[in-house]
Amino acid sequence: MEIVDVREGYLFKIVGDKTFAVQENNDGVAFCPFCYSQIDFADGRCPCCQKNIPEIIYFHGDDQTWIASGNE
Ligand SMILES: [Zn+2]
Repeated sequence: MEIVDVREGYLFKIVGDKTFAVQENNDGVAFCPFCYSQIDFADGRCPCCQKNIPEIIYFHGDDQTWIASGNE
């Protein structure tokens, strides 16, 4: 599990068994949820930061963080 930084203007979108960051006004383009490089929905790993694209990203209310889980 890994903490994910939420970035203004982006949402998280589940595609198949992976969760990507997408822009609020254009969810047809995939971004890495860790480094926000533009990537492809087919990518299982970000070519920029080399992290695997997580299965899910969920909000952890106890410490107000977003957590990436799965596909480590
Ligand atoms: Zn990345």
